[in-house]
Amino acid sequence: MERWQKTLSESITSLDELARFVRIDIESLRPVIPRYPLRITRTYLSLIQKKDDPIGRQCIPDQRELEQDDLSIDPLNEKDLTVAPGLIHRYPDRVVLLVSSACPTLCRFCTRKNRMGGEENLINRNSLKSALEYIKTRPSIREVILSGGDPLLLSDDELETILTRLRKIPHLEIVRLHTRAPVTLSDRITDRLCRMLKQYHPIYLNTQFNHPIEITPLSTMACTRLADAGIPLGNQTVLLKGVNDDPEVMKQLMQKLLTIRVRPYYIHQMDLVKGTGHFRTSIQKGLNIMAGLRGYTSGMATPSYVVDLPGGKGKVPFLPDDVKRLENIFYLRNYLGEVVEYPDINE
Ligand SMILES: *Cc1c(COP(=O)(O)O)cnc(C)c1O
Ligand code: SF4
Repeated sequence: MERWQKTLSESITSLDELARFVRIDIESLRPVIPRYPLRITRTYLSLIQKKDDPIGRQCIPDQRELEQDDLSIDPLNEKDLTVAPGLIHRYPDRVVLLVSSACPTLCRFCTRKNRMGGEENLINRNSLKSALEYIKTRPSIREVILSGGDPLLLSDDELETILTRLRKIPHLEIVRLHTRAPVTLSDRITDRLCRMLKQYHPIYLNTQFNHPIEITPLSTMACTRLADAGIPLGNQTVLLKGVNDDPEVMKQLMQKLLTIRVRPYYIHQMDLVKGTGHFRTSIQKGLNIMAGLRGYTSGMATPSYVVDLPGGKGKVPFLPDDVKRLENIFYLRNYLGEVVEYPDINE
C-alpha cells in the first residue's frame, strides 16, 4: 500500500470519530449522513479549528443540507448531456469523462452531491470503450477533462491505462485533470505519479483551493511537484457563504496561489443544487469580489467569475464593469474610429 492509500484509509467517516476532534452536536447531524455521507481526510481535518470556521464549513455535515429547498439534483442537466456512460458533452471541442465516483474529502457544497457514488454514470472497463469510441469518431473534440469524483483516487496504473488509450486518438490535443487531491490528500501527488503524467503531455491540471488556510506546506509541496513536472496548474474556487465571500480573503487567496505556481482560473457562483442552499451568495457579492481584484492586483491573480446557467446552457462570465465596457467600446469608436460590435449570439 502506498502512503496516500494509507492516509486515505485513515479518513474520518463517522460523526463519532469526528467528535473526537471537533465539537459538534452528533445527534442533530445524524439524519444527514445516510443521505449525504461524511468523509474527511486527516490532511484536511488537521486544518479545522472549529466546526464553523472556513475549513469546517466545507466538510462538516450541516442540518441545513436536509432542508426542503426546491433545488434540483441536476441543475446543469448533465443527465441529458451524457452521451455515453460517464461522458458529458456540452461544448463543441471538449468533453468531461467521469472516471471516479469518490473524493478523498466530500465537500458539503458539491454540485454532484446528489449523484455521487452512483455507479451507473461512471466509467468502467466496458463503458470506457464506448466513451473512447465516441471521442474517436468526433474530430471536433480536442480536449478531455478527467473528473468525477476525483480522478486521482484511481491508482497510477488505472490512470495510465486511460491516458494511454486517450493518447492513441490523433485529434485529441489536451488532457485536463480536475482534482482536489493537492488540497485534501496532498500525499497523492507522488514523484511516481508526476513521472507517469509527464509522459502524456500536454497535461493540464485544475485544482480547487477555496481559502488561504488551505495553502499549507503539504499542498504547496504537491503543487510544486506537479509544476516541476511541467503541468500548468489552474484553480477553480467556489464562492461560498461564510467561507470566502469576502473581497479581502479572495484577494489573499488569489495572490497566494500565484506564489505556489497555481494560476487562478475561475471563481464559480454556486450552482442551484439540492442540499447546498446555505452556501449560496448573491451574484452581487461575486461582482464586488471581482471589483476588488481588477486593477488592485496582478492580472494573473484575477480569474473569471462564472455562473453556470441552469439547464445546461453553459458557463457565462460576469464582470463587475459591464457598463464600463460599453463606455470603452464607445471610446474606441470615437477615438480610433473602430466600431466594435458584440458577436452575434443568435444562431
Ligand atoms: C465546465 C465544463 C467544461 C469545461 O469548461 P471550461 O470553461 O473549458 O473550463 C466542459 N464540459 C462541461 C460539461 C462543463 O460543465
Ligand atoms: S472535490 Fe469536487 S467533486 Fe469532490 S466532493 Fe468536492 S466539489 Fe465534489
